[in-house]
Amino acid sequence: MKIKILGTESLGVRGLSCEVRIENRKVVIDPGLALVYRRYGLLPHPVQAAVGERVRMKITAALENATDIVFSHFHRDHIPLLDANPFQLSAPQVAHLFRIVRLWSKGSEGLSNHMALRRKALIEILGRDLPNAENQKDGPLKFSLPVPHGNPNVTSGKVIMTRMEDGDGVFVHSSDIQLLDSEALEIILAWQPDIVLASGPALYHTSLSPRQQRQAWNNAVRLANGVYILILDHHLLRSTAGLRWVEHLASKTGRNVLCAADFMGHPRCLLEAQRVRLYNDMPVPDGWHEADARDETDTSTFQVYTGTQDNKYVSMAALKRMRSKGDQAACRCDLYPQGDNRDMEGVND
Ligand SMILES: [Zn+2]
Repeated sequence: MKIKILGTESLGVRGLSCEVRIENRKVVIDPGLALVYRRYGLLPHPVQAAVGERVRMKITAALENATDIVFSHFHRDHIPLLDANPFQLSAPQVAHLFRIVRLWSKGSEGLSNHMALRRKALIEILGRDLPNAENQKDGPLKFSLPVPHGNPNVTSGKVIMTRMEDGDGVFVHSSDIQLLDSEALEIILAWQPDIVLASGPALYHTSLSPRQQRQAWNNAVRLANGVYILILDHHLLRSTAGLRWVEHLASKTGRNVLCAADFMGHPRCLLEAQRVRLYNDMPVPDGWHEADARDETDTSTFQVYTGTQDNKYVSMAALKRMRSKGDQAACRCDLYPQGDNRDMEGVND
């Protein structure tokens, strides 16, 4: 099994998209991305737009010849959109890649109005139904029953989680659970994963109470202790406090707890968290956003990294060989390429 995380907050965009090569299948989960329109009163910085372009290209390349595409839910950063803005994935532009692929999706029950409308629009533009994957199994793929999108006491919808298994091990994509629901955690642990990719709690958001923060921490400790590698990203890494949370969890548990960028050997690009600093470090020319909206500018002068890691996969078998040496700490180091500039220059605090 080979895993490639395509786009998420530590890779510079909102979302939790990934590609998994397993047996003779190419599975793409949550092909979508977004940039929050205003953060700290600022529009997306051109560096974010440039990174977003790369992620959009990675997702599009992953969709080509995909055998299976999964929609864990219908938030804008997880799906192609009919009315995509310049920072999202346009459904009309990728619809042809969905013609013969197997589709797996959150069912139509319990969706918010917005999610139901997006689902309907997607069905129309793809010209295909989106079959309900809840609790389904197909070869190496298995899907959970719906679990809460974060806090189970708030009606912010539900998501499905995906389990994949081959001779190398078990990988679980648990989407936007934010570690706030114990039942979701029980499902993941019962699936006995080697590697879990999940959204952590939205520490930046004022709606997250201290009690929920403690609950997320306790769940994270359980999960970190129950799996070989825990990758936490998405909502958690919309603030640099989230990165400290990940590092604290790793040191407290002594386990392999990483953000997606670390897992992929990619520079950490928490661009949303550092939007103010981006504006200070790289001033934006007057009228840039207006010109961008008219498609009269490009991001070439804001491409701050080469993207040489874009074609990289992480092999579960290689990770297993490292584990058989029996040293968790060594594994952590091996996941960080020697001499790699883990923090994008000028963009990390
Ligand atoms: Zn999300």
